[in-house]
Amino acid sequence: MARYTGPVCRLCRREDMKLFLKGERCYTDKCGYERRSYPPGQHGQARRRKRSDYGEQLREKQKVKRIYGIAERQFRGYYHRAARMKGVTGENLIQLLERRLDNVVYRMGFVSDHAEGRQLVRHGHFKVNGQRVDIPSYLVRSGDVVEVRDKSRTIGRIVEALGAVERRGVPEWITLDKDAFKGTVKTLPTRADVTLPIREQLIVELYSK
Ligand code: SF4
Repeated sequence: MARYTGPVCRLCRREDMKLFLKGERCYTDKCGYERRSYPPGQHGQARRRKRSDYGEQLREKQKVKRIYGIAERQFRGYYHRAARMKGVTGENLIQLLERRLDNVVYRMGFVSDHAEGRQLVRHGHFKVNGQRVDIPSYLVRSGDVVEVRDKSRTIGRIVEALGAVERRGVPEWITLDKDAFKGTVKTLPTRADVTLPIREQLIVELYSK
């Protein structure tokens, strides 16, 4: 499956906010956005033109895709699924993205960013309810227990990420037993649980045209 493998700090600079795509570095003064908070490229420092409504909607969609590391086709699939669900489409969309296993291992603190989450899930380092699951898009349910497999508990990246979990914090909908390398999905996430400044309504407007 296609995934973006280019420089990620330029994505934050393009979206004009920190997307936290680079693990620990995002919390240091080496953060690319902190150092150059203007868009990337030759015209990055040129005067900014006012965006059209479409431009605003497009940027919001791109931003959310980049936060969760999802390609267009799959993202559109989430939108259609969210639209078929009961409730507010934009909120459903965010909930679906949050429920992805690669996001959940990130929220639990087992990895330091989404890309690492996707890779370590893919490599089979996690179990859900006792079963190995290596599909990053697997959607967790309320009550699911996610844990690092026994043989993976000495992996440096996992140990380091867990060491830094306090600073990042664990969201309300998750409980973490750090010593047992285990987390539980207490309830499904709601829109209020996601603190990133996302205007999901703009994405709904874009796709429902
Ligand atoms: Fe974005 Fe992190 Fe790079 Fe800063 S260090 S620009 S938050 S990816």
